Amino acid sequence: MIDLSKLTIKGARESLRKKEFTSRELTQASLSLIEEKDGNIHAFLEVYDDVLSQADEADKKISAGVDLPLLGIPIALKDNMLFAEHKATAGSKILNGFTAPYDATAVEKLKAAGAVLIGRTNMDEFAMGSSTENSAYGPTKNPHDLTRVPGGTSGGSAAAVAANMALGALGSDTGGSIRQPAALCGIVGLKPTYGRVSRSGLIAFASSLDQIGPFAKTVTDAEIIYNTIRGLDPLDSTTVGEDTYPHKKEFEKIIGVPREFVEKEGIGEETKKNLEEAIEKFESLGYKVVDVKLPSVPYSLSAYYIIQPAEASSNLARFDGVKYGAHVDGENSIDDYFQTRGAGFGPEVRRRIILGTYVLSSGYYDAYYGMAVKAKEAITAELRQTFRSVDLILTPTTPSPAFKFGEKSSPLEMYLEDIFTVHANISGCPAISLPSGFSGKLPLGVELTADLGREDNLFKAGKEFLGE
Ligand code: GLN
Repeated sequence: MIDLSKLTIKGARESLRKKEFTSRELTQASLSLIEEKDGNIHAFLEVYDDVLSQADEADKKISAGVDLPLLGIPIALKDNMLFAEHKATAGSKILNGFTAPYDATAVEKLKAAGAVLIGRTNMDEFAMGSSTENSAYGPTKNPHDLTRVPGGTSGGSAAAVAANMALGALGSDTGGSIRQPAALCGIVGLKPTYGRVSRSGLIAFASSLDQIGPFAKTVTDAEIIYNTIRGLDPLDSTTVGEDTYPHKKEFEKIIGVPREFVEKEGIGEETKKNLEEAIEKFESLGYKVVDVKLPSVPYSLSAYYIIQPAEASSNLARFDGVKYGAHVDGENSIDDYFQTRGAGFGPEVRRRIILGTYVLSSGYYDAYYGMAVKAKEAITAELRQTFRSVDLILTPTTPSPAFKFGEKSSPLEMYLEDIFTVHANISGCPAISLPSGFSGKLPLGVELTADLGREDNLFKAGKEFLGE
């Protein structure tokens, strides 16, 4: 039997090439592990029924001498990405029964690269949350400790990779939903520069912040997936080309740490110690670590919790019981909408719709939405200015390791989980979470943020940090 716990995408590709095993054998190993473990973890909402035929297709190509970056590799998809003829629910009851009519561009690119799409993974409803507890289909558990959350909202994808049930996975990140669960599950998670990966076929949450990205066990693997899914797309006018962000600065191995920001935010002792250890490790690798002041960045969270619900409230208006998924009959058409939305949306989704419509309503627009947009501009300018003198910014990914189910009982406590991740979405900058050790059996993660278009710097530093 193939030992999936040691296998990376890069390693599996080499073995497939050398015919040490077939994609069918590799995929079957993943399926057996899902069978064995996923009853407890609940990373998957569905394992696709055509997985083995996809693997056979890959094997045929391998036999014919075809070589593609993900040929024959089992990859999981977050439940908010469209895979034609397959179900997608965004973790919500309102999309129960919905079948995707076309492929998301990222999914199409995975297919073109030969990936075996293994199943769709659990998530917080419409990607709202930080623990996967908001899924309408029950929570996912952290493979390192089943009494704790895997993080969210891409908790299913993170848990699937951490438990070796898939070699890689796609997630989406609007305010941290790839990086935070990657940190809590001890794996690598990348949010690319806004516009690097097409959002076509991603069920929209907050369109100016949403970005698809990879989960993997190594930075090398995350880079392989990223290179597969990136690129300009006529179906998403916000995608950016190779020359959009010309490289202005050579990589000089300079890392900025916003100490004042990190220390003010009430992080746990273990997390603080872990950050210091990460700093020492970077120094021992020849990096120069300097203090940076980022006075506007702490306002990212406030700006995020205005812009994000505003956009969510308008994006979610499309779920009216007519066009997609669930439908509940009311007394007349207007009542149909009320009944369908009332039955289909969970409490967190309703909270965001209410908040979003409030901040956009005339009379409040300037005070809230208008201010948040100004803050977004100031934060972006501050970060871009900082990246003239440092290559990367280092922070913890989360304030503490994985928490227990039900522990964050108020929405605000849950929102504070995003304190170190939202600046990257607000500014569009790319950021990666790297596994950086453990607190007991619970993984910890550090986050590197780079200037727009500088994923290359994240990959260089990330590989050195993890010794790849
Ligand atoms: N935790 C954040 C939120 O609840 C981020 C979610 C995300 O990135 N999709 O909105």
